[in-house]
Amino acid sequence: MRAKAKAVASDIEQAARVLRAGGLVALPTETVYGLGANAEDPAAVARIFQVKGRPPSHPLIVHIAAADQLDDWVEEVPQAARLLAERFWPGPLTLVLRRGRRVPLEATGGLETVAVRVPDHPVALALLSAFGGGVTAPSANRFGSVSPTTADHVRAELGDGVDFVLEGGSCPVGVESTIVDVTGETPSILRPGGVTREDLEALLGHPVAVPSASGVRVPGQHPSHYAPRARVVLVEPDEILAEAELAQEAGHQVGVFLPPHLADAAVKARAVVAVPGSLSSYARGLYGFLRELDQQGCDLIVASLPAEEGLGLAIANRLRRAAGPRSSA
Ligand code: AMP
Ligand code: MG
Repeated sequence: MRAKAKAVASDIEQAARVLRAGGLVALPTETVYGLGANAEDPAAVARIFQVKGRPPSHPLIVHIAAADQLDDWVEEVPQAARLLAERFWPGPLTLVLRRGRRVPLEATGGLETVAVRVPDHPVALALLSAFGGGVTAPSANRFGSVSPTTADHVRAELGDGVDFVLEGGSCPVGVESTIVDVTGETPSILRPGGVTREDLEALLGHPVAVPSASGVRVPGQHPSHYAPRARVVLVEPDEILAEAELAQEAGHQVGVFLPPHLADAAVKARAVVAVPGSLSSYARGLYGFLRELDQQGCDLIVASLPAEEGLGLAIANRLRRAAGPRSSA
């Protein structure tokens, strides 16, 4: 059967029924595809962890239909959270707040805080409205691997583990949401993502802390996540061609992330991805590029980090973690 380009009203209704019955629905959001369950159904939430192979101590994000529902899910909403929600929802921003009673501990990995966001995607919003409750949804991939940005990625990765897949085309942002902890005195970024640090700071009027980033060749603090099958090696931009050639001559099947300033260079490699000049295009394509190089049979990917400004911060974070040490390799 040919996949539909976009979910229609009857698909939304069916997906809402699946959620009510305790099933799992893959849904498109503007960031990546999520694997959704009724947030208030502990057994359904437990199935998410099982299907993803994700440790149950890793908390999930509760997706809601509108900012005015936030108070239903959390204990209290500090002023900064209210401001951020008003400005950035619907959108790729997740707020961590004190857990409201209706959120089961299964969804928060046992934490007394809960992560909440309103996604900016017509299909996700239609599902949330039709369903009426909150939907916990991590990215719809196996734990540790590359996040899906198309419905085909979801089907390829999770297959029968999902009860229903809603079609929504390619995800327009392409990297996950920015997670901001608003439980402390000042908001801090737990994970960089689709809303930039600069945009947060402009609204709040003060600097916002981000998790520290280490240098290019010390991946130790970045256990593997968002990772393709191929090993990812990060080098300085002017070392890319030499590193690729060396690895290819050493017998590797090399995939290269070729930055725009090297677009015309001759590369010795099995496959090459042209990194887009704009950060938003790069973010949108990032996970697809990693999957593509896997599919082309590469066992090693050579890339460099973009400047960590704007969306470059999130892209660099994902590349570092894709290059992190593998526990099982
Ligand atoms: P994913 O669903 O794959 O985008 O992952 C969800 C992310 O949200 C993970 O990085 C979690 O650690 C983070 N998260 C969810 N809830 C919380 C919370 N209460 N406190 C801190 N981080 C959270
Ligand atoms: Mg994920």
